[in-house]
Amino acid sequence: MNTAHDSSQPTVYLETYGCQMNIADSELIAAILRRAGYGRAACPEDADVVLLNTCAIREHAEERVLSRLSTLARLKHKRPALRLGLLGCMAQHNRAQLIEKAPYLDLVAGPDSYRRLPEFLGRTGFDPIVDVRLDREETYAGIGADRAPHPRAYVTVMRGCDRFCTFCVVPYVRGRERSVAPDAVLHECREMAAHGVREVVLLGQTVNAYRHGEVDFGGLLRMIAAIDGIERIRFTSPHPCDMTAAVIDAMAGEPKVQPYLHLPVQSGSDRILAAMQRGYSVKEYLDLVERLRSVIPELALSTDIIVGFHGEEETDFIATMDLMREVAFDSAFTFKYSVREHTRAYKLGDTVSETEKARRLAAIIELQESLSTASNQNEVGRIREVLVEGPARRGDGMLCGKTPQFKTAVFAAQAQPGDLIPVRIISATSHSLIGVPVGR
Ligand code: SF4
Repeated sequence: MNTAHDSSQPTVYLETYGCQMNIADSELIAAILRRAGYGRAACPEDADVVLLNTCAIREHAEERVLSRLSTLARLKHKRPALRLGLLGCMAQHNRAQLIEKAPYLDLVAGPDSYRRLPEFLGRTGFDPIVDVRLDREETYAGIGADRAPHPRAYVTVMRGCDRFCTFCVVPYVRGRERSVAPDAVLHECREMAAHGVREVVLLGQTVNAYRHGEVDFGGLLRMIAAIDGIERIRFTSPHPCDMTAAVIDAMAGEPKVQPYLHLPVQSGSDRILAAMQRGYSVKEYLDLVERLRSVIPELALSTDIIVGFHGEEETDFIATMDLMREVAFDSAFTFKYSVREHTRAYKLGDTVSETEKARRLAAIIELQESLSTASNQNEVGRIREVLVEGPARRGDGMLCGKTPQFKTAVFAAQAQPGDLIPVRIISATSHSLIGVPVGR
């Protein structure tokens, strides 16, 4: 959505919380509203409509949004015509209860309601609108998305989840799995390539469960790899149980599919994995890692880990630390367990105190810092092809970009966003690599 607009146009300010799926959904919402005649406001103070696209994965995420809403309510108090809407997973999770908690909301709309946003926002009247119907067919195929120019872009290829891990609210707020038709995915990727995108990140809650007719996820990867102009392909988040031979073969056999995989493990204890209903044992996970590394030797691995799940004892926690050391993850997203209403584990409640969860979290963060530092130090001396993204945050004229292993490299070079340049890594911290371009 363009921020330039004529003054007769209504304007919308859109704020996004949560994962990449939500970022991609906000790009979609922006496109839907632009086509309906909305301009983009740069801040809530200038907007006719303020929409928060929210996350329900942890209690903390919901608390942040409620606090933000109470700030925005003050704006609405000064300007009663302002429409305030809450979208996404938290809308689906809390539904009409949200109107009780935040009576100044005009709209509560779940992740399958976005096509109807122009209709909802066009309605007059004072009663808030709550639309949280889940739709087994909705994939938003063919809508396209309003993306800021960047050499890397997200493409949602499937939505929903059928796995029902006991801790997770996603199947309840995002509905059942459904995949975007390959033609629509390929069309979107070609369009993006024509507009300067070099790297696509395929998104889905269990992205490697993608299936549309005869095309599985391995087939989809190969089809996208055949598109001229798309130089790199990544995907997130795969489920370990859906890492089929077809997916592994496509990763190993298609040079454009990058040697990086975010493979959520959640726990290193079989007892806890079973209680979470993750569908694999520690041994099965480790065997998968070994298989992947045997065919993709340069593979970097990241993961998700939850500490303090219902029933987690010290021995389970130690098993998680052992697994982290054994796999030597390159990076990890680590969380304290948060009981979520509507999930299967909800009625079991919490057995680990907040203090103990915090201790375990601090311990795995410290361990991961040392693993990440070692992994990055291992890059020193290597030459990695980097996709240039733009100026580095540290300023001083340095550029930044990602290596194939999705590590951030910082370097001085005469290059443009979207260029692929070889960089020799000369030093490393736990979070980034410093390099110098070679052969230029
Ligand atoms: S696979 Fe499990 S953790 Fe992932 S979205 Fe589905 S239910 Fe949630």
